[in-house]
Amino acid sequence: MKKIHSVFIVGTPYSGSTVVGEYLNNYKNTLFVGELARFETLHKNNLLYEQPSVCLSCALNNNECPIFNHKLSGKLNNVQPLAAHKIIAKATNSAVIIDGSKFVDWLRIATASKEINDVTVRAIICVKNPFSFVESCLAREENNSVPIYQLANLWRDTYFDCLRTISKNNLPFLVLRNEDFSNGNSTLYKNILTFANSDIKRKKQLHAIGSNPGVLEGRKYSPEFLQKIENSKQFSYLIHREFLKKGKIKRFKKSKLSVAQKLEVLQTPGLVDLATVLGYDLLQSA
Ligand SMILES: [Zn+2]
Repeated sequence: MKKIHSVFIVGTPYSGSTVVGEYLNNYKNTLFVGELARFETLHKNNLLYEQPSVCLSCALNNNECPIFNHKLSGKLNNVQPLAAHKIIAKATNSAVIIDGSKFVDWLRIATASKEINDVTVRAIICVKNPFSFVESCLAREENNSVPIYQLANLWRDTYFDCLRTISKNNLPFLVLRNEDFSNGNSTLYKNILTFANSDIKRKKQLHAIGSNPGVLEGRKYSPEFLQKIENSKQFSYLIHREFLKKGKIKRFKKSKLSVAQKLEVLQTPGLVDLATVLGYDLLQSA
């Protein structure tokens, strides 16, 4: 069996992992599996996410997923992330698995498993400016009562954990700022492909667990699609209805936090320094 390359996307929610995964999935040898930790049998073992999920593009079209179905679920009973990657790679003839589960814990489980010896593991740290992160959180009904300092702490703690865990395990990694990806130049995209070990471009359908169904549907929302979202209580925890009704995701929007709210973010101990390490100039963008 040929060597499998596993690329773990780590970071906070709303850090742009789905668009990065969708981009890489357009390469022949590469499969973006979405939030794999949420897939049926795997979810039962790890419970990192509150809810399990399915391949949304198939669910939205009422199809049985050719990849993430009951047959695969049976094979993934009690397996670790890297063993799951090997099984999925074999079943789909892929050489590179992009895992968008995002939890650093998921990566930790992977690096502690024996499969680390025969799978190449890399990490992409997906990040967005902490002001934009807080804004994205506040835009979701379920988060808008969370105090800003807690959201800012979550951003800081997540990226400290990413860097610490990746460094401790000597993993090659790439920091991918959502703002750069959205406005990306060809050099950035080339670097991402080189890093992920992806080769020939070949557009193929995306089958990925969870993530943002709006992104999966090509960022255009048909009335049928919106109706399916409305009808499907299963997805209600994933998305904000008002966000979908806008019809289009604004890929790079300016932060709408007030000056006082931005100051609250900036006052988070350690956050400004960490943002600088990740390539942001927060004082400039405040
Ligand atoms: Zn599918």
